[in-house]
Amino acid sequence: MDHLRRSLLNCYTMQGLDRKAELRSNTDWIAEQFGRSDVGVMPIWRGHTLVSGTKDDRRIAPLDTAGLEEMQSRCRVGKPIFLGLHPDGPRFALTVDGETADAPDLLAPFGEMMDLRTAGRELHPAEASVFAHAKALSEWQDRHRFCPACGSTNEPVDAGHVLKCSGEGCGRSQFPRMDPAIIVRVVFEDRILLGRQAVWAPHQYSVVAGFVEPGESLEQAVVREVEEEAGVPVVEVHYQSSQPWPFPGNIMLGFAAVASDDQISLNDNELEHARWYTREEIVTGLNERSLRVPPNISISFRLIEHWFNDAGGDTLLEVTERAGYEWTPPPRSS
Ligand SMILES: [Zn+2]
Repeated sequence: MDHLRRSLLNCYTMQGLDRKAELRSNTDWIAEQFGRSDVGVMPIWRGHTLVSGTKDDRRIAPLDTAGLEEMQSRCRVGKPIFLGLHPDGPRFALTVDGETADAPDLLAPFGEMMDLRTAGRELHPAEASVFAHAKALSEWQDRHRFCPACGSTNEPVDAGHVLKCSGEGCGRSQFPRMDPAIIVRVVFEDRILLGRQAVWAPHQYSVVAGFVEPGESLEQAVVREVEEEAGVPVVEVHYQSSQPWPFPGNIMLGFAAVASDDQISLNDNELEHARWYTREEIVTGLNERSLRVPPNISISFRLIEHWFNDAGGDTLLEVTERAGYEWTPPPRSS
């Protein structure tokens, strides 16, 4: 499978909008989109947005112009950020001040508030992807209110995709920031390396992951992280797929690696335990409730799944279903 199709299997990767990036700096065009009767504005409050509909057909419920005016009159909101053109109309995101504790009550007439992890499981993949896009931009703006050079306030330009310093004689621009992190499935012969951190839920295991450091390639980051966390030497590294992970601003870069030795040594104490699993041991662990795999919205699950399913027979999802596996409830969103 090529990388484009493999990435589309990951949550938050299905582009539901035509972003029209080339038109963001055209203020007349943006104003025209904002003035359209079919405009939809997604409020983003503490990592949540509005959804409506029943459990089987839940959708993002953007505010119309009247709803937007009501929100603007009742609480502090940011400037609308242009996301793109949706088949139903132009879409904007709107940051609602996190200090507005009663935002869910104010927004209750328009729908209910949902966090992005829940949305990844409950919304159509294209809808969840639009939400991920909106959350990432809104929270990036929120974390970069001041210029790092002179401390003056930043003002959004280019429909919210650039922040420009308002300080006289400065005017420094900032662009949406993401932190690259590698995540890697390590295999030795017919076994996969899984480890757990002490703070995770009991029996929860996952693949190795970590942030890319300045001055190293993605592949070097893979080799270093596996060595640090598990002491396992990696001899082959293959890119798999990627996933936006706006919790709050990561891009996960997924790899498959081959180890030359199965001796484990927990060098940096990030993991409290790591071990090698055969496919049969994973099935047994899931059936006996002695192993929890990562949430199925995560690229870590996909990396394990691709390896597991390669052998043919039951897929990892079928195994979890048969085991009556309950996915970990989404933790509170950051
Ligand atoms: Zn400045």
